[in-house]
Amino acid sequence: MCIFCKIINHEIPSAVVYEDQDVLAILDISQVTKGHTLVMPKKHVRNILEADDETAEACIRTAKMLAKRIVERTGAAGVNVLTNCGEAAGQTVEHLHFHIIPRYSSNDAITIEFNPSEKQDLEAVCALLKED
Ligand code: AMP
Ligand code: ZN
Repeated sequence: MCIFCKIINHEIPSAVVYEDQDVLAILDISQVTKGHTLVMPKKHVRNILEADDETAEACIRTAKMLAKRIVERTGAAGVNVLTNCGEAAGQTVEHLHFHIIPRYSSNDAITIEFNPSEKQDLEAVCALLKED
């Protein structure tokens, strides 16, 4: 059983911020910033690509609700809401979860950078991604 399933089953203790029949939200043990929270479905799905719509929706609704609450109650200036999917994207726990990371300034402990890279042919990329 994965570590988040053990947390959901109360076999491993955690700081529960929110719980309903489908979703659990806990404080991330690493607290990148104060209030860093993880929202996860109670059903084990590996990541967003493998999640059914109902499971993804339940998580996103909860993440939205909690992001608002966390920003209001911590006085954060902003928030990052993100899910890592796959090892290349930094996923270390293979049970879907959304990070809610309140941001207090652009110099706090997290950096998300969009660095310039290889120029893309937008028409070709768009044609690839658009529905026929
Ligand atoms: P990711 O790298 O997106 O898979 O994130 C996994 C997150 O789970 C990390 O930020 C960890 O700090 C967090 N984490 C791992 N074990 C625990 C735990 N027992 N309780 C709370 N958070 C945890
Ligand atoms: Zn699991």
